[in-house]
Amino acid sequence: MIDLSKYTKELSKQFSLSENILLICHINPDGDAIGSQLALYHYLKAMGKDVNMMAPNYLQEFLKWMEGAGLINIFIKEGRKCRILIEKADLIVFLDFNQSNRLGEAEVPVLASHARKVIIDHHLDPKNFADLIISDPSKCSTAELVHELLSDLNPDLAITKHYAEAIYVGIITDTGNFEHGAYSSRTFRIVAELLDSGIDKGSILNLIYNNFSADRIRLQGYALNKRMVVLPEYRTAYIFLTKNDLAEYNHVKGDTEGFVNMPLSIKGINFAALFIEKDGFIKISFRSKGQFPSNLFASKYFSGGGHLNASGGEYYDTLDNTIDFFLKVLKENAWRFEDKML
Ligand code: 5GP
Ligand code: MN
Repeated sequence: MIDLSKYTKELSKQFSLSENILLICHINPDGDAIGSQLALYHYLKAMGKDVNMMAPNYLQEFLKWMEGAGLINIFIKEGRKCRILIEKADLIVFLDFNQSNRLGEAEVPVLASHARKVIIDHHLDPKNFADLIISDPSKCSTAELVHELLSDLNPDLAITKHYAEAIYVGIITDTGNFEHGAYSSRTFRIVAELLDSGIDKGSILNLIYNNFSADRIRLQGYALNKRMVVLPEYRTAYIFLTKNDLAEYNHVKGDTEGFVNMPLSIKGINFAALFIEKDGFIKISFRSKGQFPSNLFASKYFSGGGHLNASGGEYYDTLDNTIDFFLKVLKENAWRFEDKML
């Protein structure tokens, strides 16, 4: 837990020094990236600031209903406009990531910008690419951290419906609707405040969780039935999906979201991986239970990172070779699977 008051003073100074603020979330933005970005956007707008938003690539369908989501400029689609926003910004706030490669193709222009830069994030091991780093891995979500900072900065914070919805979406998506992650009693106090502000919890849950296509549900069935391998000796299970598998089920972005969590509900399985075949590389997600540092595993072997229990990475080879490599490094780490690490 960090001492917020130290940071809110500095953040407040940064806001008041700035005329043009650009909020940027990470590539493949999830509900917390978009939720924390939109919440801060609504707050700064209410302060009368000139604020813009940018994401390195596209938002998933299930987040597009959120108020303000349509105002997020997509770097890979609107590169020219985004470059202008980056150049004209005097303050850039990074939300929900702490490694600059999570900016994707926007990394070079963003890092070259003369704007002052602030990171607000809850992942472990922040890298130093900003003037102010507000990092608190004890928070369940960046949205929770944003809310704590803003309510400390402005105790009379008037919680508008759109602001509350955005914070709520960040919290529920990063905790799997309070199933996992670093949520605390403080999280529930915040949620109580959000619910009191009049948000429609039922309809938000529907928009986030009951919004799948039939193809997506069928792909999930196929992944579990035909593409899951269970390795009881390592207390591990993994799922792999080829490009053909995805095409067969008319895959759209976001369809495989959540698949990696499913093997963890098998008794005795404490480590899960999901391999997705992409063009020229394999995208991997990891999840673990207990103390096994899935993020260190991801960074050591798969050029990635993330949280202790939820991380991801990439491997530039074929799917078969990637899985062979995974099996090899599992074997090398076999001792971890025997003792209390898992
Ligand atoms: P997911 O598996 O849902 O894509 O990602 C889970 C967590 O791992 C997220 O918090 C995300 O920040 C992190 N993560 C996923 N992929 C990567 C990656 O390639 N590099 C890094 N550094 N973190 C990742
Ligand atoms: Mn997050």
